[in-house]
Amino acid sequence: MLDMKWIRQNREQVQAAADRKGISVSVAELVAQDEERRRLQRVTEELRGERNKLSERIGALMKEGEREEAERSRRQVKEVLGKLAAAEEEMGQAEKNWESLMRLVPNVVSPDTPDGRSDADNVEVKRVGAPQSFPFEAKDHIALGELHDMIDVRRGVKAGGTRNYYLKGAGALLHRAVQQLAVDLLLRRGFTLLDVPLMVRTEAMNQTGFFPLGEDQTYRLAGEDKWLAGTSEVSLIAYYGNEVVELREPIRLAAASACFRSEVGSAGRDVHGLYRVHQFAKVEQVVLCRADPDVSEAMLQEITANAEELLACLELPYRVVAVCAGDMSQKTYKQYDIETWMPSRGTYGETHSSSNLHDFQARRSNIRYRDEAGKLRYCHTLNNTAVASPRILIPLLENHQEEDGSIRIPAALRPYMNGLARLTVG
Ligand code: AMP
Repeated sequence: MLDMKWIRQNREQVQAAADRKGISVSVAELVAQDEERRRLQRVTEELRGERNKLSERIGALMKEGEREEAERSRRQVKEVLGKLAAAEEEMGQAEKNWESLMRLVPNVVSPDTPDGRSDADNVEVKRVGAPQSFPFEAKDHIALGELHDMIDVRRGVKAGGTRNYYLKGAGALLHRAVQQLAVDLLLRRGFTLLDVPLMVRTEAMNQTGFFPLGEDQTYRLAGEDKWLAGTSEVSLIAYYGNEVVELREPIRLAAASACFRSEVGSAGRDVHGLYRVHQFAKVEQVVLCRADPDVSEAMLQEITANAEELLACLELPYRVVAVCAGDMSQKTYKQYDIETWMPSRGTYGETHSSSNLHDFQARRSNIRYRDEAGKLRYCHTLNNTAVASPRILIPLLENHQEEDGSIRIPAALRPYMNGLARLTVG
């Protein structure tokens, strides 16, 4: 959420951000609704003042025994109360209209955000390692998974429907190993690990900026005001909702959790294998820091570097792209994605998403801190994947395969795999 006063002063910039992000909202209409609700606020305040004055007058007249005059004032009060009830109702409606428009207004984007409509328009800013080329016919992760009896999509679909899977044996171990490697890396970087609620209230989804626009991406629990979180970012931010936090140092939080996504709108896309599934695990980084653009930019670089370090540990080639405005979510100010080389796709595939939201999410969640002058301010918030699995197993298995179908385990993962250096066939 942006500050309404700021929106009024920067309408063109906000409308431009909405247009660039492809979000259909009229800032002119929002400003008009804001004026209307403020006009009605003034009207109701005036009527309340009139009512109070008349009530006082009635009291005084009664004391003085001026019964007739008091009776006249009573009739006037009745009239004022009628007008007040109507004005309050109108104001309530105007507030609702304003609020529903306000919830659609996107964050503005950083000056260095590229223009574009989709991920095809993202701009590469860095490339590390070279895409693998194999001197033999390489297998994809599903074939490797079947060969090692560690990925079973057929039974996943049998039990859970489309976009489901089982990980078994070494597959399940690898899934846990990459997560624990990421958690340990973040703990060394000063992050605090939390285990978080995954069934969250509508309010938490609204306050963290996932709703209203992401509602169709989210599974609702039948008969409850609760949803299955698509990312632990929701719970990590909601942890501090409506609180004043101590921010001498940035707050660095991490969680390892299951994530649930309906993937509405992705019908027919990435249907093969483990790339796009309904349930996956993610180790997430969340940062809250002072509302200083230089500080939050430095934190964006830091959480992006953490993800890059994880990929270095996994010995995987990747690139970093600056995400274009049209591929950003409503709440994002600046975003990098990291894409890892996936041989079976013959391209880089997104494995990490690193975002600076400035104060958009904190304002919506009402998370504040006191600055040096003691003034309460909304903080900046950021988030990034540390690792998401099973998607990361695609490049991990495919890049490290050998001609006989064996898979080399990168050295950094071996302590989490009981020292195993390779998965051998048979
Ligand atoms: P996001 O929270 O949407 O920024 O996604 C973070 C990361 O989670 C992505 O870069 C992917 O690695 C992973 N991810 C997101 N959606 C899915 C999905 N439907 N299936 C598998 N992995 C996913």
